[in-house]
Amino acid sequence: MTFTLAIVGRPNVGKSTLFNRLVGKKLALVDDQPGVTRDLREGDAKLYDLRFTVIDTAGLEEVTDDSLQGRMRRLTERAVEMADVCLFLIDGRVGVTPSDEVFADILRRKNARVILGVNKAEGKAGDGGAIEAWSLGLGEPVRMSAEHGEGMDDLYHILRPIGAEFEERAALDAPIVDVDVSEEEAETEADEDAHKPTERRPLQIAVIGRPNAGKSTLINKIIGEDRLLTGPEAGITRDAISVRTNWFGTPTRIFDTAGMRKKARINDKLEKLSVADGLRAVRFAEVVVVLLDVDIPFEQQDLRIADFAETEGRAVVVAVNKWDLEGDKQEKLAELKEMFERLLPQLRGAPLVTVSAKTGRGLDRLHGAILRAHDVWNRRITTARLNSWLGAMTEAHPPPAPSGKRIKLRYMTQVKTRPPGFVAMCSHPDLMPESYRRYLVNGLRDHFDMPGTPIRVTFRGQG
Ligand code: GDP
Ligand code: GDP
Repeated sequence: MTFTLAIVGRPNVGKSTLFNRLVGKKLALVDDQPGVTRDLREGDAKLYDLRFTVIDTAGLEEVTDDSLQGRMRRLTERAVEMADVCLFLIDGRVGVTPSDEVFADILRRKNARVILGVNKAEGKAGDGGAIEAWSLGLGEPVRMSAEHGEGMDDLYHILRPIGAEFEERAALDAPIVDVDVSEEEAETEADEDAHKPTERRPLQIAVIGRPNAGKSTLINKIIGEDRLLTGPEAGITRDAISVRTNWFGTPTRIFDTAGMRKKARINDKLEKLSVADGLRAVRFAEVVVVLLDVDIPFEQQDLRIADFAETEGRAVVVAVNKWDLEGDKQEKLAELKEMFERLLPQLRGAPLVTVSAKTGRGLDRLHGAILRAHDVWNRRITTARLNSWLGAMTEAHPPPAPSGKRIKLRYMTQVKTRPPGFVAMCSHPDLMPESYRRYLVNGLRDHFDMPGTPIRVTFRGQG
């Protein structure tokens, strides 16, 4: 069971834009369904790992006459009745209008559970609107930009507990058939995971980085209070230690070594060992968080670690820690991005997130980036889409003709996920130059929006 979110507000505040963002391409139009007015649209929304139903009340022109005003009111009331929670949008650039106040009244009278969204607030725009919005008496406004996708993390963190509430209700209604958690905890072999129902598999992450980057601090912050419930769990194998937690509502297993055993390492030999331990943890992880120290970022050791994660085929998120110590954040960020692109071209497009493990700042963004990277890592692209893309790519730049032999690319198909792997059938696969593989990999990454994951392309001949 999921919950239903209604997006309400006066025309032109960005309701449809937000609806489309939440629903993506799989837009379900139900306007011909009896009993639902033509102006209510319903769709299956997805926000990171959260699924719910969304209703949009858009589709009305700017209200000029009374009948329309009445219709809009009835429509909103209907949506409120159908929904478990309402997202009331105002335009942050315009501020609170009398028309917004009418909507606020409707919501109050209906006793609706309301999230107040201040839209069009990308950059600094909407600063004023966000302050004014308090006057509506509907609680703390959430700044967002439906068009640019800003504020979606905040929205997620507000909706997540609501999702959990509904899941709990559903669980109470469902027959109990699944193994209980203590049994799952008792497993000793990673392979056993394969037999578990996949939806119960926690997200597996590893935090790696040089000594003193802040790994222990970060992991402890993530585990927080939950630590007492889960406890460090003696390893899945002798090589790695993992701990389970519920991070912002996502069941998560964190693999670590040095981070969890408090280090008492001073001499070089032991320190090297701890890095090797971290590298082992990578093998168990789906998403690897490469933690950098803002004062000494992208040092040789960091680059080796990041490269290792890529080679192992893990999704990668780069987190720059100790951001609280940084004075000129704007300038530093630009510098970090430039270094990232220059020093780690193999991780092109991977997210770079600034955090403070100490204060907890930015951890919500880190969480969001990890979920997104995990999603991309699991991505599957249909053969039809691949090949229409491949056609355009080869047309723009045909494969070269080394020593006069023309390489003809026939077609491409995705053969695996985690990370995405593709096979391209062609003539003379052994002659295909590395530069052309890079051209295709970069093209796949850009066209199908797959940042933060390794992409493998193999060339194969055909009889
Ligand atoms: P609705 O009538 O409430 O459904 O509003 P629409 O979604 O149709 O948006 C109205 C206009 O606002 C469109 O031109 C959108 O492109 C624009 N818009 C929507 N969201 C944003 C945003 O976050 N920032 C900016 N600058 N414009 C937006
Ligand atoms: P590890 O060796 O990677 O596990 O690093 P630790 O977690 O032990 O942290 C190393 C040092 O950095 C400790 O003194 C931490 O208190 C400090 N530290 C960790 N995270 C932060 C942060 O976000 N901000 C600041 N100012 N210090 C931090």
